[in-house]
Amino acid sequence: MRWNVDDWDATVETLRSAKAATLACHVNPDGDALGSLLATHLGLKKMGVGSTPTWGTSPAKIPFAYTWIPGAQDIVQPEDAPAAEVFIALDCGAADRLGDLEGPARASKRLINVDHHPGNENFGHLNVVVPDASSTAELVAGLLQDAGVEFDRDIATCLYAGIVTDTGRFQYSNSTPATLRLAADLLEYDVPAPAIAQEVFESSPFAYLKLVGHVLERAVLHPDASFVYSWFTRSDLEESGVDMDETEKLIDLVRSTRDADVAAMFKEQPDGRWRVSMRSKSGVSVGALARARGGGGHELAAGFTAPDLEATVASLLDELRGAA
Ligand code: 5GP
Ligand code: MN
Repeated sequence: MRWNVDDWDATVETLRSAKAATLACHVNPDGDALGSLLATHLGLKKMGVGSTPTWGTSPAKIPFAYTWIPGAQDIVQPEDAPAAEVFIALDCGAADRLGDLEGPARASKRLINVDHHPGNENFGHLNVVVPDASSTAELVAGLLQDAGVEFDRDIATCLYAGIVTDTGRFQYSNSTPATLRLAADLLEYDVPAPAIAQEVFESSPFAYLKLVGHVLERAVLHPDASFVYSWFTRSDLEESGVDMDETEKLIDLVRSTRDADVAAMFKEQPDGRWRVSMRSKSGVSVGALARARGGGGHELAAGFTAPDLEATVASLLDELRGAA
């Protein structure tokens, strides 16, 4: 599917004519970041473009739930990424989501920014930024098709992984009829959908169940602000033996109560600051709340980093009570 953005055709043309490209998704990649990164990589390879996939954290280590994803063996460390003429940023709502690769990206001759986050400031020379797209993978599917890449099982698997994760298994409001039609087309390539579901959604270590127990037990509900939140500390992780990259879905449990429209999950980082994941079910834009605090994301799913848990909860409560 061709999306109506000014730079679409120039982007397709650049993909077709490039000799080499360095590709990066956002730091701490999720399914859409990895799926769109590796689908683009495999598509470029098929076209004979020398493609190098990476992301800007050292070490760039593929999360446990995605070790099976096609193309994973080609991922290089960010410091080993060549300074290619074309740099493609995937699923990066802001340039700083490139982490250590923001500098190299900005220094490249042609920076292509493919993304679906509202608030993306078109930091590329070419920008395919479509907030209506369910996922960056959905945009990549269209770009590759228009560039003449024939899909195969590996490319379809990467694209499907991106779409199924960013749509919450086709349940969120970003999942349109066109999204489902694309997913259906991808399944024609023999995508192992049940195996993906198991790897991505049901592969937690047993220790994770214990962490979930703690996190849910200490959850706090503020009915007057329709707000629920919980948290974990570095020592919770150490005691449970759970890796930070296994904690991405805790917010989905916290948000599952009908007694709150807005949910937040606070995750203590090694530097003592808190990564905050927010979700909304209704009209409250957590994207705006996150942007006001130096982060970003979508209207209904966003995140930011804050120095202090209590002060952040207090300021969120102030705003949410005002909105209620
Ligand atoms: P999550 O809560 O799953 O980490 O992130 C939810 C959404 O918000 C994702 O689309 C993610 O890319 C975006 N997001 C999370 N943290 C940040 C941030 O610090 N800055 C920006 N620009 N986007 C973020
Ligand atoms: Mn995404």
